[in-house]
Amino acid sequence: MTALRLLLLGPPGAGKGTQARILVEEHGIPQVSTGDMLRAAVAAGTPVGAKAQSYMDAGELVPDAVVIGVAEERLGMDDASRGFILDGFPRTVVQAESLDGILDRLGTKLERCVSLEVAEDGLVARLLKRADLEDRSDDNEEAIRTRMREYRTKTEPLIDYYRQKGVLVEVSGTGDVDEVAHRIREAVA
Ligand code: AMP
Repeated sequence: MTALRLLLLGPPGAGKGTQARILVEEHGIPQVSTGDMLRAAVAAGTPVGAKAQSYMDAGELVPDAVVIGVAEERLGMDDASRGFILDGFPRTVVQAESLDGILDRLGTKLERCVSLEVAEDGLVARLLKRADLEDRSDDNEEAIRTRMREYRTKTEPLIDYYRQKGVLVEVSGTGDVDEVAHRIREAVA
């Protein structure tokens, strides 16, 4: 049970959520998923949910200011003081810079950014399959394609951002869940 401040980066459908949940079990620290928090806000009908819903349904990124507020509040909670697994935040350079500021104020910093590398073909099919299993309103084909485009144009530049900070590790996200979990374990050890 070591303290760990980790960010999982990767395209939609790469398995970030699944791997985050495994790390949560192993390290006893919370998963911080802005996607989960925004879905909860939509379901609860909060003002944040009202601001986020139309973007989420279309597969577009929710405006930085909304998401940064949600993440900052969550990271300031007691259970995150011993570490956290960031899943789906940051997704833009502005968010990454804000995260640096948030962690600075909390007197801590990110230890690792794990970039899950997967081939893009196959991801859309994987997400469409997931759409049958979960009832996500952003899992129709058009929204999925938009999410991929958003990832490529706005989130992928974060790989270089964290490489330059010297915290990036690239891990193959291909293979079964246990194999990928094993690679991540080695990469963050
Ligand atoms: P996820 O569950 O992480 O795939 O997120 C689902 C949706 O929530 C995304 O397609 C965005 O509309 C929104 N969202 C989640 N996290 C962020 C973020 N960090 N920045 C902007 N939008 C986000």
